[in-house]
Amino acid sequence: MSSTRRREATVAAETASVPVTPIGIDVGEKTLVAAATASMEPADAFAVEGHDPARLFDYLATAVGALQSAGFETDAGEAQLTAAFWYRLRAQVLDAAARTVQWVRSHSAPVLVLEDLGRRQRPLWAVRDDAEQVGAWLLPHLQSALAGRAREAGVPVAYVDPDGTSRECHRCGEHGEREKQRFWCTNPDCDVRGVDADRSAAITIASRAEVDIRD
Ligand SMILES: [Zn+2]
Repeated sequence: MSSTRRREATVAAETASVPVTPIGIDVGEKTLVAAATASMEPADAFAVEGHDPARLFDYLATAVGALQSAGFETDAGEAQLTAAFWYRLRAQVLDAAARTVQWVRSHSAPVLVLEDLGRRQRPLWAVRDDAEQVGAWLLPHLQSALAGRAREAGVPVAYVDPDGTSRECHRCGEHGEREKQRFWCTNPDCDVRGVDADRSAAITIASRAEVDIRD
């Protein structure tokens, strides 16, 4: 995490006349965005489901693969295909960002908190023939769209350490088990069982920002 990004959250905390509300954001391929404050329960978190971006990505990679096997120059055709998919995928990303930031703004002095994934945005063209790259393409684009939209709306953006957020219990902080989209806490004194893992991660991400801001 860059010190500039950390400072952004700290400054917001110091200058705001009311306490800031960190909103943790978890991005993914199925649930594109899960958003929550540190004090929420997973059921109350905000979420935007995707329209199966992995399947769209698969179509693109398959079509590009078919063109590439033609044995002649297909760059122009690949570019047209990639552009067509770009508009559809990009529309999902922008819509998810807009709806999320609208929800974020309903809180008092919100700070949008993202995981510092350290992954750079890649153009769709660079990954057009590899369906396995859907996450590598989608997640940084979602984060970038969210951060851009938030800044346009005057909402500060902070980044936190992503280490273990998907395996840490949002309530007690112990490590638990994640299976498919569900999270089970293994602490016998904690009753978090089978909650939505993305929404739980969003709560954990918000909690981490609170620690950063207090420090
Ligand atoms: Zn727990």
